[in-house]
Amino acid sequence: MKYQAPRGVKDLLPPESEAFRRLEDEIRETFTLSGFREVRLPIFESAALFTRSIGESTDIVEKEMYLFEGKGGEKLALRPEGTASLLRAAIEHRLAEPGRTSRLFYQGAMFRHERPQAGRLRQFHQAGAEVLGPNDPDTDADLIATVSRYAQRTGIPGSRLLLNSMGCEACRPEYRKQLVAYLEARKSNLCETCIRRIGTNPLRVLDCKVEGCQKTLNAAPAITSFLCPASREHFERVCQALNEGEIPYILSPRLVRGLDYYTETAFEWVSDALGAQSTWAAGGRYNGLVSSLGGPDVPGVGLAIGIERLYLLREQAGTLPLSAEPPVTIALHPLDDDSRAYIRTILTTLRAEGISCVGLFGANRLKKAFVSAEREGARFIGLAGENERGNGTITIKDLKTGAQKTVPAGSSAELISLLRSEIPADSAR
Ligand code: ATP
Ligand code: MG
Repeated sequence: MKYQAPRGVKDLLPPESEAFRRLEDEIRETFTLSGFREVRLPIFESAALFTRSIGESTDIVEKEMYLFEGKGGEKLALRPEGTASLLRAAIEHRLAEPGRTSRLFYQGAMFRHERPQAGRLRQFHQAGAEVLGPNDPDTDADLIATVSRYAQRTGIPGSRLLLNSMGCEACRPEYRKQLVAYLEARKSNLCETCIRRIGTNPLRVLDCKVEGCQKTLNAAPAITSFLCPASREHFERVCQALNEGEIPYILSPRLVRGLDYYTETAFEWVSDALGAQSTWAAGGRYNGLVSSLGGPDVPGVGLAIGIERLYLLREQAGTLPLSAEPPVTIALHPLDDDSRAYIRTILTTLRAEGISCVGLFGANRLKKAFVSAEREGARFIGLAGENERGNGTITIKDLKTGAQKTVPAGSSAELISLLRSEIPADSAR
């Protein structure tokens, strides 16, 4: 019996796993610099939390959730996204309170039962940031700027910011009416899901990915023509703040987000370099969500970055944060059985000095030890036999340059500085 990872689920192996971790660290640092603090959220929640917040007639709730039953029959779901969980936690622990600002971020695996393809997995990773409390346009613009500046700084190829306003409860009814009339008249050009959603959630129709539908939707009425004075002012001030900060954006009047809870500002970062799965980060304001989940009337704005898609973009640009350091500084090989304890002592000493090292205890011949050291990715090999033991030394060979030296072992400054030395630029083998 051979086991394989489930479809749409990827193992991350070194060195990709290390680059992935560094990407997550970059995002963590970016959010931290903008005042966000991390919350660790559970991987599963009560299914109703997602149904309630994301909305019944959305891709996620209609077909993508991993549902299961707890032993007591409670209906649970693997989290398909982070905002619902974060808000649930913020309400539960009183971090979403009127008059208070909470800036929180999360990072981790999300689960959606989708058709796997490049940039679309069933287990994928998001990093998301949410600001609960303020309702002013500058907060939206500052959050947007945090990600746009990150994209500029790290040179994400072809990245563009799409911006829209989805209005509020005051302006949507009239828009909804006009949109429904437009869609009803063009039913024959729409897919089955779209036709069904005209009745349940017409705004969601605009988010359809089917090519045939897209043509029809491109000429649909735009919500921006229906904004009430308050929503219009909010949106104009977001745009103005972005202009002043020289953050480029493209007004996209038919941009709606795939989840039900958005109000006012909505935005997505896309890149053509990603092909069909072009969105690498997205978010928006959600003023009614906290209260609809049983919390106080606290507005919020947030976004999520798809780490796999970010990874693909950075990989294409050749700017993945891969480490230049060898994974292991030195591999130590005992030349005889009596030297094993001696090697173990040196391992302890070096690790206490912060130098990564492994013992090649399984290699019984010198040639095999060299092969093992290479495989470990070690920069040096260290050898100790009867002579070294007797003198309290170790013989070090630089696996790149071939240079060899016998130096005192123990916490010797000479050994440590040798192991920490830069590789000379002309040291090609
Ligand atoms: P899409 O339109 O691509 O399905 P979405 O609207 O469902 O995206 P969100 O729920 O807004 O996506 O999630 C935010 C980000 O998470 C997306 O922009 C994308 O980068 C990433 N993402 C979403 N679903 C997946 C997936 N199945 N695999 C990999 N990344 C994903
Ligand atoms: Mg989706």
